[in-house]
Amino acid sequence: MLPTRALFLLLSVSLALSATAYGQAQPAKAAPRRIAIRAGHLVDPKGARTLDNVVIEVEDDRIAAVTRGSAPSDREVIDLSQFTVLPGLIDLHTHVLLNGDITEEDYDHQLLKDSIPYRAILAGRNARIALDHGFTTIRDLETEGAMYADVDVKTAIARGEIPGPRMQVATRAMTPTGMYPLLGYSWELKVPTGVQYVDGVDGARKAVREQVMYGADWIKYYSDRSYRFEADGVLHSMVNFTEEEAQAIVNEAHRLGKKVAAHAIGSDGIAAALRAGVDTIEHGVGLTEPLMEEMAKKGTTWVPTVMVLAYVAPGRGGNWTRMIELEKSAFTKARKRGVKVGFGTDAGGSDWKELGQAREFQYYTDYGMSPMEAIQSATVRAAEVLGWEDRAGAVEAGKWADLVAVAGDPLKDIRELARVKFVMKGGVVYKDEATRRGGP
Ligand SMILES: [Zn+2]
Repeated sequence: MLPTRALFLLLSVSLALSATAYGQAQPAKAAPRRIAIRAGHLVDPKGARTLDNVVIEVEDDRIAAVTRGSAPSDREVIDLSQFTVLPGLIDLHTHVLLNGDITEEDYDHQLLKDSIPYRAILAGRNARIALDHGFTTIRDLETEGAMYADVDVKTAIARGEIPGPRMQVATRAMTPTGMYPLLGYSWELKVPTGVQYVDGVDGARKAVREQVMYGADWIKYYSDRSYRFEADGVLHSMVNFTEEEAQAIVNEAHRLGKKVAAHAIGSDGIAAALRAGVDTIEHGVGLTEPLMEEMAKKGTTWVPTVMVLAYVAPGRGGNWTRMIELEKSAFTKARKRGVKVGFGTDAGGSDWKELGQAREFQYYTDYGMSPMEAIQSATVRAAEVLGWEDRAGAVEAGKWADLVAVAGDPLKDIRELARVKFVMKGGVVYKDEATRRGGP
């Protein structure tokens, strides 16, 4: 039997030949779509400066030039001369397939009563919300029981079927058997799990290969659980994987050219993840000063997700309230020790409809970052984490035309970023409350 691929090639060749035989010319490449954006101010996080009266020339999905002076006359002009323009924002920690999980019941309900197709529909809505908030790129860090549906959402967005941010996705995430919900149900019932259960070194390598095969851009694993304060004032935790298992996950992911994100809240979980060599530490509430030093030395990025902690703590009680204070002091110390901070909200852990992702910026500045540093964490720094520093996170020639605009000055009042008036992704306008042109 002729393999399908060979058949396809044969067909393509014969079609191409017949087109030539009938003298049909190849269709001319469409002329590039040219737009000039007049920006009153441009925040340049890469240069840590603001430029005034800038013209951003866009050709198709890319920025062609950034100049001063007047807009070229040969192109459509978008007048944002009364606005401040920034690069499209990047959220390094989201869950588009989750809609708030303050309590165990919230979480179990979504896995037990909502089908994966239903959750994927809501994920499409959530992706639109993220884009409306000015987040033109997200790293979605696992589907919480919705298998590989994040890959489908990413694909639908990339093909232009639904509006949403560019995505890097982690698919299912991993823990050893029994160390992540759903838990506590009768052993007679087969219930879904929020992660893929993975055991042993061979199992770890196989799971990484499987997730990559189905479209994972990142591998995420849960380094710890059961967070508790001890007499030393340090937040401790139970470590999930053996050293060998965690090492196997990280080695295999890196061998396949993928990076690894570790959920690590307590100091023990953070230490174990750093020993395994992960690329990003998610949450990191229990960071101690020696661990901060290790992160700074290794260049590991911390994604603190402050917003979600503040959101879930009142409903969870117990240690969670104390963890907010601990993270605040860790944040200050970590910055002094040169730990790289990447912007991440854990949106989805909070309700997408209730809490805007820009709230995270406010926490960072409340905790001592300058507004420029906070903006850098969600642009130039975040792009580096994604390996997309050549195409995102800055407004300069060659980068994707991903832009947002706000009416006020976000360097004076970071809350401006919660009031994004204009969003462009890849040269297409998705939101426009600035010039009233409207979006698609
Ligand atoms: Zn999360």
